[in-house]
Amino acid sequence: MQGLMQDVPLTLDRLFDHAARWHGAREIVSRDADGRVSRTTYAGAHARAKQVSNALRAMGVREGERVATLAWNGARHLEAWYGAIGIGAVLHTLNPRLFPEQIAYIANHAQDRMILADPGCAPLLETLLPQVPSVRDVIFLCDEAGMPRTSFAARDYESWIADQSQQAAWGGFDERLAAGLCYTSGTTGNPKGVLYGHRSNYIHALMTLQVDALALSARDTVLLVVPMYHANAWGVVYSAPCVGAKLVLPGQRLDGASLHELILSEGVTYSAAVPTVWQMILAHLKETKGNLGKLERVTIGGAACPESIIRTLHDEYGVDVIQGWGMTETSPLATVSHPTAEIAALPFDQQVPFKLKQGRLLCNLDLKLTDDEGRRLPHDGKTFGRLKIKGETIASGYFGGEGGDVLDEEGFFDTGDVSTIDARGYMQITDRAKDVIKSGGEWISSIDLENIAVGHPKAHLCAVIGVTHPKWDERPILLVQLKPGESAEKRDFIDFLDGKIAKWWMPDDVVFVDEIPLGATGKIDKKLIRQRMQGYALPFDGTSR
Ligand code: ADP
Repeated sequence: MQGLMQDVPLTLDRLFDHAARWHGAREIVSRDADGRVSRTTYAGAHARAKQVSNALRAMGVREGERVATLAWNGARHLEAWYGAIGIGAVLHTLNPRLFPEQIAYIANHAQDRMILADPGCAPLLETLLPQVPSVRDVIFLCDEAGMPRTSFAARDYESWIADQSQQAAWGGFDERLAAGLCYTSGTTGNPKGVLYGHRSNYIHALMTLQVDALALSARDTVLLVVPMYHANAWGVVYSAPCVGAKLVLPGQRLDGASLHELILSEGVTYSAAVPTVWQMILAHLKETKGNLGKLERVTIGGAACPESIIRTLHDEYGVDVIQGWGMTETSPLATVSHPTAEIAALPFDQQVPFKLKQGRLLCNLDLKLTDDEGRRLPHDGKTFGRLKIKGETIASGYFGGEGGDVLDEEGFFDTGDVSTIDARGYMQITDRAKDVIKSGGEWISSIDLENIAVGHPKAHLCAVIGVTHPKWDERPILLVQLKPGESAEKRDFIDFLDGKIAKWWMPDDVVFVDEIPLGATGKIDKKLIRQRMQGYALPFDGTSR
């Protein structure tokens, strides 16, 4: 017997319709390219998104065609986003921080039909466009006065939509249609396209709104630091409109001072970002002796969150840090480190070890740990293995069939992460499979070492990589970027780590560098570090372990 409930397709346009109708006056605040702050509302952005749909239709854009954006977080980007997906086009977010050759590869692979870009991306497009013949039109997300000079033909967004009607039919298609395309940054091999569906992103938005996930509400003001081109800004592009949270979109200015200014001036209560962003904000606060205003809680993810960030935000600014884990292929949020009832009853100090774990699984998903042969491993908090995941918000393959069959015989996707799961269900990443340091047949977690080392008061950023060792296969070395104006000796870091880690985990060398490079999504770029450290030789006598 079938249920007798209404069968309405889960298409994402409905979320923005809902925001416009029921939270229409809630603000969307953007920092524009010139640094000025502009304001609209959900109702205003919705009306303009409809104009975008009509402008796209007038250009002949059809269902399933890829409409690319090359832009920072801003209201026009959001309008273009919903304008495209509302008519069944596939919104393809290009990451402006990638190298032009990578973007060209991705845009060609996706066969992008057109690009909507921030004016600041004009020089990048000059290099890019001759390499991507599928792109027929370029729209700059600005008005006529803000148009950059280019050698190619382009239009400004404002005049492009100006004459279009604010009425347009959205949705009415199968909820399984593709809505968004986002390429993984390709830390190994070529980037691969993750193709989100309307249904999968809709379900992900509802999952992530739970109190034990992002817990967004109508009372929140969300500073969306995580870029919209990074897995839909962790799905907040969809979840914030569901509840009518005020959105603060910081554009390209992601330095500590600019973000701090928005936190205070807009009364931000919640924010989502990778750890390096908080390092910058905290450094700025220390320098200026500032405070964080109304900020209550932050989700930190994308890379492991150092303990020093969790403690400083809690102890000095009264802000609760919740760690989240996921990847482009998991929509992205999959585990969140909220406390269980038992852990919440403990003093803060005893909660910290659980905040350092990547957290417990959201509903609808399943996780398992396996060895290299695919045999399941126990959830005892000690045994680590390959982390695999399953559910309706998890990729079943890549765009264009890249990478072949990615699911195991039980339908699980291999995340490429190595982790443990404890008896309470807390997952903890040991490392990425390719970053873990294999020393004498045992594994050293580069993440653990980095997170402890960065707690040194003089450290700005720390990275640990494995280098070849004749006896132990690999040994860890610690790279340190000191805070401006600081100086330190290798010994300072070795002494700092002593007693905090197993003896055989002690890095064989400490190398001070001017810069620890960050990748296109703000994470430490180990691939580049390894390249830069080619030719490096351990200064050792071979007795380190
Ligand atoms: P890529 O960086 O390869 O493009 P993603 O941006 O999707 O891919 O990053 C996903 C990866 O980031 C995960 O597989 C994991 O290794 C890492 N990651 C994400 N969140 C966390 C976290 N909270 N702690 C540790 N690692 C994390």
